[in-house]
Amino acid sequence: MKVAAVLGSPISHSLSPAIYSFLAHKFGLTDFTYEAHDVNPSNLHGQIAQLSRTAGFVGLNITSPHKQTILSELDAVSPEALAMGAVNVVHSDENHLLGYNTDVRGILRTLAEFEPPLREDAAYIWGAGGAARAVAYALGHLNSPQVFIANRTLPAAQSLAKDLGQIFPRTHYQAVLPNTPAPVDPLAILVNATSVGMSGTQQINDPHFFHAMKDLRYAPRCLAFDLIYTPQQTPFLVLAQSLGLTRVGGLPMLVEQALATWEIWFKDLRPLQNLKSELLDHLRERLLGRDILTGKPLFLTGFMGSGKSVIASILAKKIGFTAIDTDSLIEERAQLSVSQIFEIHGEAHFRELERQVVLEVTQQRDVVVSLGGGALMTTE
Ligand code: NAP
Repeated sequence: MKVAAVLGSPISHSLSPAIYSFLAHKFGLTDFTYEAHDVNPSNLHGQIAQLSRTAGFVGLNITSPHKQTILSELDAVSPEALAMGAVNVVHSDENHLLGYNTDVRGILRTLAEFEPPLREDAAYIWGAGGAARAVAYALGHLNSPQVFIANRTLPAAQSLAKDLGQIFPRTHYQAVLPNTPAPVDPLAILVNATSVGMSGTQQINDPHFFHAMKDLRYAPRCLAFDLIYTPQQTPFLVLAQSLGLTRVGGLPMLVEQALATWEIWFKDLRPLQNLKSELLDHLRERLLGRDILTGKPLFLTGFMGSGKSVIASILAKKIGFTAIDTDSLIEERAQLSVSQIFEIHGEAHFRELERQVVLEVTQQRDVVVSLGGGALMTTE
């Protein structure tokens, strides 16, 4: 038995279970289990202790808010994770917990596919958080001559520029405010490493945030790279498209990170044919619901027996949503079958229960709802 898990909070939207189940299937690991644990900071230590005692425990994916605090739980940490100040993968090796950060690897492998002229021309990054740090590190590693770091909170960009300048003295890191006068030299790469444009967040669609892009100059083969993967078409990428730039979103980086994790855990990355492209397709399908519906519920209506519940359940599974059948929900709550409710309380009572349940599910996110055949009879 091999056991792995992702720890974070919230965790319900994590793609990790889908990713690692897919990889286990592809690599023929039939005794692999992978779970998502919603863990509060105060429970992190206990959860890790418990998993470490589990037979066959191979490692963890770590996500927000534990990427920094996990460091104190580990026996050793890779140089990249130390430079990032954050760990997103843990490997349990002969009872030792080793911490890694796969962000830089994911970025380097994504860039290798496109080969922008990084050694000759400058780079422009929006953001100064964890992801921007990984991008700035990768660009230093690739001997980028000049890296602009644009962040609305300038001190964060300044601090990042200073840290990375010490690690890569040959690269000139410069902190700027977004939309300040643009650099005159042509750019090899533009990166959005902020959460601006990400779906499912309260904020953040400042239409002016990337306006500087219009005033920048671009080298031939310049790449616009948005780390965001939901939605797959972001405001940053739309603007880049209008400027005729080569573009890539955050999904290939996510896939590269997953493969790097698999390599760390199992030392096995047989070059399976089409593995990357199949995993990418698998994730694109799972993200379809979030992309197109942006989390809003999808309702299926139709006659009795037309297949609403079956289709809802298949569709929900494919796009990473939860299936809800309103009739089943009513039966569960009333502890009676629909026909018993009709018999004992009459149709009007059933319609009232149905009305309440339907109104309730309209407030939920990421659900495919199979409506009872009569639900459309209520105007509301
Ligand atoms: P983070 O550490 O919280 O940093 C967030 C960054 O976004 C900061 O620079 C912040 O600026 C900026 N920001 C947030 N809201 C903003 C707003 N309303 N206006 C302007 N700037 C805003 O997050 P992170 O871990 O670096 O992640 C950043 C993005 O990268 C996320 O969308 C994440 O999903 C993505 N990511 C993708 C991958 C992948 O595999 N594809 C991996 C890692 C991260 P301030 O400093 O001014 O607050």
